[in-house]
Amino acid sequence: MKVLVPVKRVVDYNVKVRVKSDGSGVDVANVKMSMNPFDEIAVEEAMRLKEGGKATEVIVVSCGVTQCQETLRTAMAIGADRAVLVESDADLQPLAVAKLIKAVVDKEQPQLVILGKQAIDDDCNQTGQMLAALLGWPQATFASRVSIEGDRVAVTREVDGGLETISLALPAVITTDLRLNEPRYVTLPNIMKAKKKPLETLKPADLGVDVAPRLKTLKVSEPPKRTAGVIVPDVATLVAKLRNEAKVI
Ligand code: AMP
Repeated sequence: MKVLVPVKRVVDYNVKVRVKSDGSGVDVANVKMSMNPFDEIAVEEAMRLKEGGKATEVIVVSCGVTQCQETLRTAMAIGADRAVLVESDADLQPLAVAKLIKAVVDKEQPQLVILGKQAIDDDCNQTGQMLAALLGWPQATFASRVSIEGDRVAVTREVDGGLETISLALPAVITTDLRLNEPRYVTLPNIMKAKKKPLETLKPADLGVDVAPRLKTLKVSEPPKRTAGVIVPDVATLVAKLRNEAKVI
């Protein structure tokens, strides 16, 4: 069974992002970029399926600028066998990414696609769902446990009230939640090995996909700054403030 894992290059989760002065977006110039953390979990899960004898090959795919090659090399250092870069300088929105990944799925014929539940830059939480719809495949979002059982996959999902376990016929689409696994550290020998693994580059036009944006960003703004707190002398003053000023009691 082939497993395909889409990985996105995003601003590293440790970076405090700055909004551009014209409010048109986030400033990514000279900012550290990394693999989307939910995608690291997806690559790790695919590796565990391979190491457990359930998967035969793990292919990673990234859509975006040339530098996404670094993200793909990291995924191959975790253990993925080979990579596909769909190279484009365009602003790729979830629908375009879902169409590109669908085209790669049609070409590669994996039995399972594992994506992150969301990209931490756009917080869209759309690509996996759109991909499943485009493919006409069953989907299990927010997975915290994955178990291949013959020609089906059992997935435990994190839902509001607790956990839900569902069984899907393969081929299927899964999106990862935080508690699915803890990704391994990438070791230096594996980084060296990853440099020699195959990385194929395609263009959206090669896949016959129109990636023109369908959404227009009107404005991006910083969250409101927190105002300084005050120290109250006693509980009575605190209660009075909560009642009269904050009006929360
Ligand atoms: P989103 O719908 O943007 O929140 O992204 C959800 C998931 O879709 C991510 O965790 C990735 O697995 C995948 N994805 C989104 N954008 C890309 C991209 N440009 N290249 C590869 N995978 C992507």
